[in-house]
Amino acid sequence: MPELPEVETTRRGIRSALRGHRITGMVLREPRLRWPVDPGLVTGLPGQQVRDVRRRAKYLLIELERGTLIAHLGMSGSLRVLPAVAPLLAHDHYDLLLDTGRCLRFNDPRRFGSLLWVTGDPAEHPLLARLGPEPLEREFDADYLAGKARGRKVAIKQFLMDQHVVVGVGNIYASEALFRAGISPRRAAGRVSAVRLEDLVGAVRDVLAEAIRQGGTTLRDYVNAEGTPGYFRQKLYVYERAGEPCRRCRTAVRQIVQGQRSTYYCPACHK
Ligand SMILES: [Zn+2]
Repeated sequence: MPELPEVETTRRGIRSALRGHRITGMVLREPRLRWPVDPGLVTGLPGQQVRDVRRRAKYLLIELERGTLIAHLGMSGSLRVLPAVAPLLAHDHYDLLLDTGRCLRFNDPRRFGSLLWVTGDPAEHPLLARLGPEPLEREFDADYLAGKARGRKVAIKQFLMDQHVVVGVGNIYASEALFRAGISPRRAAGRVSAVRLEDLVGAVRDVLAEAIRQGGTTLRDYVNAEGTPGYFRQKLYVYERAGEPCRRCRTAVRQIVQGQRSTYYCPACHK
């Protein structure tokens, strides 16, 4: 599943191809995504110039002259910039044709992705309005996290994955950040000391920034905007390494289930 680093990698990959260019057409082959794609876009988008491509959590915001497209990759989606004449693959659901002769093409075998259109401030859209801060921005700091964690009995790993606390820390990066900060994923959020929360904020930032630098983590069905896999998988300390030796202390990595998701941790590396 594309997580924040994969979405940010996609944003960087498509931004230069889109920004300042005009949409000349839209081909909608399959409107039945997570939510139906408005067929009015086929006539409404052509002629509009792309002002910028931003990101909020795992949503890509394609800002046009008269509104914003909110695109989500879902579980298995990818957005690529290709020549408009490039042969179609199975599950290619829409193309935004550009004045450069290229297109932005969305492929998604599982169709949990989405494409929505808003004319007002996208930050006020119900999908975005109640999200927590971005993990790589200043707002996300130890004081903020301590305030949110106070009195909470939920396990720190699930707390960290709560989009109302902070966005974009998915399963892989939550396990990795907790390992780096030396915090047991099972510890109650409200019982993690302020000093350790500070370490955790640093670890979340580091792990996400490194993953973005590496182009995301290689997942079975993930490719970035250039169609190449990410390389962050080689840097993972614990994720999907159950039974393998911890890269720090050689103790076998353990796997447990929390909130229906696998958590990986080293039982010796946390205090
Ligand atoms: Zn260890």
